Amino acid sequence: MVGYSFLPLVQRCNLKKTLLVVLGLCLAAFCAFGLMQPSAPVLASPPAAIDYRHWPELNPRVRPTYGSPPDLSWLDDGLPSEPFARLEMLVKHHPNPAVSQELNAALTSRELFLDLSHRPGLLGQFFLTTAGEVRIAGRENEADAPILNLNGEVMMSLSSTPEVLEYMGLIYHETVHYLDWRKSPEADRGFLYAKDPNDWSLSECIQDWDDELHAFQLECEAMVAWGMKVRPVFGNSNEPNTMCDYSLDPRAFKQQVWKKLTGANQGSQFTPPPCERVWAEAAGHPNAKEF
Ligand SMILES: [Zn+2]
Repeated sequence: MVGYSFLPLVQRCNLKKTLLVVLGLCLAAFCAFGLMQPSAPVLASPPAAIDYRHWPELNPRVRPTYGSPPDLSWLDDGLPSEPFARLEMLVKHHPNPAVSQELNAALTSRELFLDLSHRPGLLGQFFLTTAGEVRIAGRENEADAPILNLNGEVMMSLSSTPEVLEYMGLIYHETVHYLDWRKSPEADRGFLYAKDPNDWSLSECIQDWDDELHAFQLECEAMVAWGMKVRPVFGNSNEPNTMCDYSLDPRAFKQQVWKKLTGANQGSQFTPPPCERVWAEAAGHPNAKEF
C-alpha cells in the first residue's frame, strides 16, 4: 500500500487569499500604530460616511434538521502521531466517498500533491503551481501541478470527536474545489488557483464565487448530516454554526458566504478589488451598485 508522502515546497507567492490575509494583518498593524500616536487637538469631526457595505444579518426562513455523528469507532485507538499517516486515516475513514475514494485515489496515485505546511491565516487551500515555485521530484518547473494544502498544525491539535469531524468538513470542502477543477476544461478554472486575485477579470471573480458557494454548500450538507451545530476549531464553540444553520435559505446563505469571503464577518474588508461589485451582486447585497 502506497501511503501519502511529503511534498517539499519552496517559497510561493501570490496565493489565493494569502495576500488578502496579509493585507488584513497590515491594516491591523496600521491601526495599532495609529493608536500610539501622540494625541492631536480635538476638532469637530465630519459626519461619518455611510458604510454602504454594512448588511444587517438576514434571518433564515428555514433551518436544517441536524443529524448525528457517523460511525467513528475507528477513532478508538487514537489518531497516528505522524502527520501524513494521520491525514491518510482521516481521508480513508471519511464518510463521504468523494474523499474516501476519489481524493484518496488522487493522493495515492500522485495525481494530486499534498502539502501539510502551516500557512498563517489559512486552514486549507487547493491551488495550482506556477512554473518553478514548487519542487516535486521529477516535475521541477512544471506549471499547473495541483496541490492540496491542509493546515497540519491544526490537524495535529485535534483532541475531540467534534474537532475531528469539523476538520473532515474542511477536507471535504477542499476536495470539492479539487474535483470541480478536475471536471472543468483546464482553461476554464486553472487561473483561479494560480493567479493573483488582484489580477482576476470579472468573469474570474464570478467563477470563484460559484466555486466557493458550491464548496460551502456541500461542506454544510455534511456538517448538518453529522450533527455539527457548533464549530469547535474554526469558530466559537459556544455559538451556533451560523453558516450551515442558514444553508437551507439561499438568500441568507449567500450573505454568510459573502461575509466569509470578504472578511466582513471579522470586521474587516479584504475583497480583491476586481471582485467587489460582482461578489456583492452575486450575494444579493442591497447596496451592490455602490461597490
Ligand atoms: Zn473554498
